[in-house]
Amino acid sequence: MKKQLRISMALVMLAGSAAFNLSCVKHAPPDKVAISKAQPLKGNGIYITPDLNSAGEVDQFIARCKSMRINKIFMLTKNTKGEVNYPSNHYRVSAMVDDFDCYGAICQAAHREGIGVHAWFVIFHEGAKDPVPIIEQHPEYLLVNREGKSNVEQPTWSTVKPEYSTYWVCPTAVGYREYLKKMMQEVIDLYQVDGIHLDYIRYPEEVEARQYCYCDRCKKLFKENYGYTLPVNDVVKNRYWVTQMCNNVTNAVKDFADFAHQHNKLISAYVFTDYTTAIEAVYQNWPWFSRYLDFIIPTSYEVSPAYIHKMAAMTKAVLHDSCMLFPTVYAAPVQRRSADGGVRWYSGKPDDVVTTFKAWLDEDVDGVVLFTYNLMMNRDYVSKEQLEKNIKGIREISRE
Ligand SMILES: [Zn+2]
Repeated sequence: MKKQLRISMALVMLAGSAAFNLSCVKHAPPDKVAISKAQPLKGNGIYITPDLNSAGEVDQFIARCKSMRINKIFMLTKNTKGEVNYPSNHYRVSAMVDDFDCYGAICQAAHREGIGVHAWFVIFHEGAKDPVPIIEQHPEYLLVNREGKSNVEQPTWSTVKPEYSTYWVCPTAVGYREYLKKMMQEVIDLYQVDGIHLDYIRYPEEVEARQYCYCDRCKKLFKENYGYTLPVNDVVKNRYWVTQMCNNVTNAVKDFADFAHQHNKLISAYVFTDYTTAIEAVYQNWPWFSRYLDFIIPTSYEVSPAYIHKMAAMTKAVLHDSCMLFPTVYAAPVQRRSADGGVRWYSGKPDDVVTTFKAWLDEDVDGVVLFTYNLMMNRDYVSKEQLEKNIKGIREISRE
């Protein structure tokens, strides 16, 4: 879609033109007012990238949600390139947004059926190719590696494979957090969403071992808290560095949680399930920061049903009492990380989706979340017959 058209569409939307069905925007008629609960409802969820093409496809999606006892939708709002999936007036809009406002249509159809919508934000991940204006204006927001090279000079993962190159903002960049909160505010103003969902709320995987972050802010914080100047090749002086990185992420989580709660919205996050890995590899200390969240979505992509029982025990042992638990499973039996085998991984058979889903429900979690509707609908991975079988299977094992 042409940029000019996008801008005029956004203006039309804000002006409240009858050309668009606006019943899911903030000033909706009383009978269409969204549910905004102080506590999340038990029940299943699903992630979706809003690329449906018509009201009919949206209705079909919502009907499938109801079949699978889904009462929470996580809709991709800001993607890994920093673009947004709704007709924004202020931020770069992704190519998938066209004349049909899928984002708004899903909000409206979901609320009509009592299903909550959570705006899913990729938090610290940004595109290295053609970065959005905020990154062009503030390259100092980005990570700096151990050699003192910023992402601009050496993008994250570029040394692993050039095509993996990406930009990543350091969680200490308060100006970037303010930018994201303004984006969240725009979504809240335009649409009735029930919650904010945080994704990539962490540092990148440390495939290069303690590679990040040595930006001026991180070095200053470490000096203030521990008295040492990094980087340094010294076991003692490096000792608390992981804790500092974890605290940087936690402070960002609290910032976004405060924002959400001030606006009477739920707050949640997607996290690495193994908390040891979460802390060691991406500085995501969710056992601690779960106290700021209404619920948490630990991943269990491609994990065998047998191993999920162990994962459940470890997760429950460290999760804060006030935080509800909705683990996520792949909605298609795609094998990527598990391709090399290992007892931890599932078999990749078509029925694995439902079997894995059931393994979590048997652990009495508050609900299970499918990742994603788009994957579930991909005929390369799930046949039409298998899709219907999965929907029926999930319905049968899920509670009312
Ligand atoms: Zn930093």
